Amino acid sequence: MSDLDKRSIVYLPGVGPKRAEILKKEAGIASYEDLLYYFPYKYVDRSRFYKIAEVTANMPYIQLRGRILFFDTIGEGRTKRLIAKFTDGSGTIDLVWFKGMNYVMNKYKPSVEYIVFGKPAEYGRVLNIAHPDIDEIADGQQVAAGLTPFYNTTEKMKKSFLNSRAIQNLQYTLLSSLKWKVPDYMPEYLLRKLRMLPLEEALKNIHFPETVAKLRVAQLRLKFDELFFIQLHILQTAHLRKQKLHGILFPRVGDYFNTFYKDYLPFELTNAQKRVVKEIRADMGSGRQMNRLLQGDVGSGKTLVGLLAMLLAIDNHCQACMMAPTEILANQHYATVKSFLKDMDVKVALLTGSTKRSERNKLLPAIASGEIQIVIGTHALIEDTVEFASLGLAIIDEQHRFGVEQRARLWKKNVQVPHVLIMTATPIPRTLAMTLYGDLDVSVIDELPPGRKPVKTVHRYDNNRAQLYNFLRKELQAGRQVYIVYPLIEENEKLDYKNLEQGYETFKEVFPEYSVSMVHGKMKTSEKDAEMQRFVSGESRILVATTVIEVGVNVPNASVMVIESAERFGLSQLHQLRGRVGRGAEQSYCILVSSYKLSNETRRRLEIMVNSNNGFEIAEEDLKMRGHGDMEGTRQSGEGLDLKIANLAADGQILQYARNIAQEILDKDPDLSEERNRPLKSRLQTLFDRKINWGMIS
Ligand code: ADP
Ligand code: MG
Repeated sequence: MSDLDKRSIVYLPGVGPKRAEILKKEAGIASYEDLLYYFPYKYVDRSRFYKIAEVTANMPYIQLRGRILFFDTIGEGRTKRLIAKFTDGSGTIDLVWFKGMNYVMNKYKPSVEYIVFGKPAEYGRVLNIAHPDIDEIADGQQVAAGLTPFYNTTEKMKKSFLNSRAIQNLQYTLLSSLKWKVPDYMPEYLLRKLRMLPLEEALKNIHFPETVAKLRVAQLRLKFDELFFIQLHILQTAHLRKQKLHGILFPRVGDYFNTFYKDYLPFELTNAQKRVVKEIRADMGSGRQMNRLLQGDVGSGKTLVGLLAMLLAIDNHCQACMMAPTEILANQHYATVKSFLKDMDVKVALLTGSTKRSERNKLLPAIASGEIQIVIGTHALIEDTVEFASLGLAIIDEQHRFGVEQRARLWKKNVQVPHVLIMTATPIPRTLAMTLYGDLDVSVIDELPPGRKPVKTVHRYDNNRAQLYNFLRKELQAGRQVYIVYPLIEENEKLDYKNLEQGYETFKEVFPEYSVSMVHGKMKTSEKDAEMQRFVSGESRILVATTVIEVGVNVPNASVMVIESAERFGLSQLHQLRGRVGRGAEQSYCILVSSYKLSNETRRRLEIMVNSNNGFEIAEEDLKMRGHGDMEGTRQSGEGLDLKIANLAADGQILQYARNIAQEILDKDPDLSEERNRPLKSRLQTLFDRKINWGMIS
């Protein structure tokens, strides 16, 4: 029997039903395999012992060897704690427990020799180690040797004595009790070619590294595996889809496209825009279904490219739709498209959550009959009641707010799957794109329309607001408009709203001569739109807002973006916000206002913003600083990548290598039916059949 993934953890000695449940709930460990793949998050060198006399409070984890002199309980109620005076002859140190005191007193005896491991601290001039790991010297495997692994554990796990040490012991029990080899799902021929460690050896060394060098090769093998199977899955899916899904053929460039291009285009397309339009035309004329991700920094002119693609669709007697994440944005797209098309005879409709029922009742049949050619809207577009006569192209703007589920619903709108164009201004780092959207074709607009001046970004502390107000007054007097953005997060909602409203009052007081608007998520849509409209039309000159204006809003006359408490925003978000200005011909400014006290990391983040205007560069930095688990776009869409060991910020090379190898294998054996690739096929099934199929994103 070697099905590690089918063996319940409850049968492992030392686990039992209660702990099994906690392991499953808290750490997702249900099977033997889950446990083996629960990797340490760090290793600490335990090859050396310190003398108590040389210990200082600022040392990292240290290891001591000595005896307990006596136990003492001090304090009352919540400050009650147990202290063990510990000595090695060179000095004494306090071992301290705030919990589990009886257990500790029963377990450890004065005068027995122990190894103590923990992080030293100082309290009232006395050195101590709180909740140390303690081992008996005679305790066989547990005598400290080399690198000690640390495992993530939760409070609930610790309460059931499932701390990092206990997990380590379970790993030991499991690995030493295996009576058969852990089956390797990499075929022999591949392992030889890759020159990688066999799986069992890699797993043993990830939990109990013999040396640092061995640990590195074990990590390499497991990181490779993780990325390799994701790539294999994505590439295979993409291949199968290309084979199976025929796209609607758009062979013609017709009157709509040509007339618009010749007579209505208000400006010359940038070279990047031209290139992307070509790529889209090639896709839609190929007979295959288009699945294209269009990345372009804020203000690079994606909307126009989208419109051209929609005109191609209607030239070929199909309908097209464009979905936006917010009503503000949908309204704006609608207005933009209408004004681009001027008096051209194209039927365009707007459909959002606030479309009146009577209006809706007129629109729906017109969409179903095909009379309406272009529909612009929000989520409302994908409701079941909306039926198209022949949807040929679906454009999804700022896609990271649309989940896989919602996108999938689009397909049901047509017998034949429509072409899909996803537009985003949130630049996605290359490694993340390869992993999350590895099956999409990517177009990039890497050029801004001419005449744009890069936004000047400065960092200011909020103790000098007079200077800020003076600057704003100058810009306002020159006829410009100003955004003031406040952070808003759920956990801190009350206080955040208070700050926002206070800010609103303050700006009204400081600038009585100008009208000030405010928008935030708690307002009714109609109110929000009205306030927004006042700003768009120029009636109000200052807009105080939360990040609802983050995506897509276009007011070319606005030249200053002030971001309050800038230290609380992520890099990508700051970049998105900054993209709201610099859309006209005037010099624009982004002012990051923060408190004086900043962590090094935050200071660095603001520095990056001041020094770079390049969205891709910023996204890469963001990924480095925050890790992929936290990246915007992955989290919001609920498509979080559950990587256990690989790190997309650091392991780009391994990822590229894994992708190349996967591609090579699939080139020769697309459905992995060759005998030698059997193990790969069955591993893919185990990995992906039970999970959400996020490789299918399209
Ligand atoms: P984004 O890529 O952020 O969605 P938009 O499509 O909103 O950018 O375009 C930003 C602004 O640039 C709009 O006012 C648009 O009309 C203008 N624009 C687009 N393409 C060009 C171009 N080739 N030349 C000049 N201005 C352009
Ligand atoms: Mg846009």
